[in-house]
Amino acid sequence: MSETLLQVEGLIKRFGGFTALDGVSLEVRAGERLGLIGPNGSGKTTLISCVAGTLPTDGGRIVFKGTVLGRMPAYRRTRRGIARSYQVPKPFTSMTVLENVAVPLEYAGRGGGGDVAARALEILVSVGLGDKADENSLSLTQIELRKLELARALAAEPELLIADEVMAGLSNAEVDEMLELLFAFNGRGIAVIMIEHIMRAVMRFSQRIVVLDAGTVIAEGAPDDILKNPDVERAYFGE
Ligand code: ADP
Ligand code: MG
Repeated sequence: MSETLLQVEGLIKRFGGFTALDGVSLEVRAGERLGLIGPNGSGKTTLISCVAGTLPTDGGRIVFKGTVLGRMPAYRRTRRGIARSYQVPKPFTSMTVLENVAVPLEYAGRGGGGDVAARALEILVSVGLGDKADENSLSLTQIELRKLELARALAAEPELLIADEVMAGLSNAEVDEMLELLFAFNGRGIAVIMIEHIMRAVMRFSQRIVVLDAGTVIAEGAPDDILKNPDVERAYFGE
């Protein structure tokens, strides 16, 4: 078995008097494909914002590659290898598609002193946006925006990619296209946490699935076992 990449232990996150994460523990191994599912409002996005460092936590620990992240700011977590996509793509609309990837490349310190534009183009080609490099990001279709989100995340050369509902609103064929992309990234050794409501996609992609409900982990296991788990059914469909 490969080594532990990310370890979340007893994570607590409150918004005022509301507890959004109530002692969440989970683990991701190097190169693993993990599905993270749960009803709306169960805390999935909050969890990954805590891991990415865009939200402070109220308890528990997050350990990445053996280091307790504590109050480490988001940009340093990015440099250590944690990348996330946002549920609602937020490109820099005044910039070209290429510039949208060049900025995070520089930010993550991965320009390598080399030609940032060339590296950005390489990344765009890898997500199938090579021919859109010089267009304004405003001109992109929904799936192209999602691909740009992935490209921006990849610019940091992550060891862990957290994809937050990157398939929402896409057609079946487009979902398959995004799946293939995520499989390809994983094939290059990147561990992926897939947060997704499209069950067919999560089931096909994930080696293991963690289920959140109301800020706690209610189930964890192989996709087939999760499908048959009565607690999971209750969480989604009520009693
Ligand atoms: P999910 O991604 O699983 O749909 P979220 O993590 O977005 O769920 O939200 C979990 C809960 O925390 C929800 O009840 C949501 O309303 C609440 N929440 C999320 N972000 C904030 C915030 N910034 N302030 C207050 N409440 C929030
Ligand atoms: Mg969410």
